[in-house]
Amino acid sequence: MNISILGSTGSIGTQALEVVDDLKGIKDITILAITGNSNAELLEAQARRYKPQLAVVADETKYNDLKCRLADTDITVSTGEEGLCEAATLDKCDMVLSSIVGFAGLVPTMKAIEAGKDIALANKETLVTAGGLFCDAVKRHKVRLLPVDSEHSAIFQSLHSGNRGELKKILLTASGGPFYGKTQDELKNIKKEQALKHPNWSMGAKITIDSATLMNKGLEIIEAKWLFDVDFDDIEVLVHRESIIHSMVEFCDKSVIAQLSLPSMKHPIQYAFTYPQRLPSSDSSVSFADIASLTFGKPDEETFRCLALAKQAGRMGGVMPTVLNAANEVAVAAFLSGKIGFLQIAEYVENILSKYENRLNFSLEDIIEVDRSVRLEHKL
Ligand code: NDP
Ligand code: MG
Repeated sequence: MNISILGSTGSIGTQALEVVDDLKGIKDITILAITGNSNAELLEAQARRYKPQLAVVADETKYNDLKCRLADTDITVSTGEEGLCEAATLDKCDMVLSSIVGFAGLVPTMKAIEAGKDIALANKETLVTAGGLFCDAVKRHKVRLLPVDSEHSAIFQSLHSGNRGELKKILLTASGGPFYGKTQDELKNIKKEQALKHPNWSMGAKITIDSATLMNKGLEIIEAKWLFDVDFDDIEVLVHRESIIHSMVEFCDKSVIAQLSLPSMKHPIQYAFTYPQRLPSSDSSVSFADIASLTFGKPDEETFRCLALAKQAGRMGGVMPTVLNAANEVAVAAFLSGKIGFLQIAEYVENILSKYENRLNFSLEDIIEVDRSVRLEHKL
């Protein structure tokens, strides 16, 4: 199988390359293209090791750097959104791992679908911002859409136990993040370093902050709605601190089916690469006797306002999820650069949502325009 990895220098991208190493001799995967935003040094190391046809550094100011680094190889070097789209549509490519963070992944992923490539999807923001257009394109071009987000991979795996008509609801588990149980008052002076310390997962900065605000769970509700074609009323968020149950589904006979494993993104990445097969994994087994107990609770949407805001935008539909996503990206970047406090993330998102009038009919170009207008007109 030939794969292009969009976002190979990130947390998901680097773990995907480890999965490719793990599977060597069991299922051989050729890496056709790798991409990063600005990390030319890591792209060079990956290019020398995996010998792709194409290496793309999205940031145009880094193009010459990468080109010089790979001058003694026959690897093509490209840049910009055009380069990302080239990586997503190479002739010999069978599957694209969409693991760029944020809205920047949308256009290349849509191009991959239009070129008939199967999609392993980590980049949830694409489904949040353009779910309807995305799913229509998947149907039209008859490509396979395989979830990489751990909860959605768990739901996908659990759904194999029944027919779609028999599904009653989805139980979407949430670790609760580093601040579970805290009050608004205790969250006032949270520092970036505290928010970047997730109890169970090591991930890129943006999703780690989303996990701390619970926006991540809100985005995942919208992601689940599109991936599994379910109503918002049929998705329940359940706090499960241990991150062993990655999500569950309840069927009409009240039987609940779950997928369990230690918290490792290599599991859902590998399953997307090998589906419908299951192949041996380098991950450790769950030792239930050592874990001893698994706990469950309800999320606190009053303290963690982002979850409620995402639900609200999701239910409104139209371009509101695009506005939510763009506002959140702006606010998280501002929090990470020290411009706003932790609680201002939700305040900003709420304020931006109130400024936009919804539109129910829109094209991909409209989505791109809405995203751009949030970033340009409401800078922080
Ligand atoms: P990282 O920040 O670790 O990596 C992001 C990747 O995208 C890097 O390769 C980065 O390049 C690249 N990138 C960033 N900005 C741009 C841009 N403007 N144009 C092109 N490329 C860009 O993120 P993660 O790997 O943590 O997350 C990736 C996606 O997967 C997100 O959508 C996240 O929600 C989702 N996901 C992640 C999980 C995880 O465990 N990490 C779990 C479930 C979902 P560079 O390195 O050069 O900056
Ligand atoms: Mg997840």
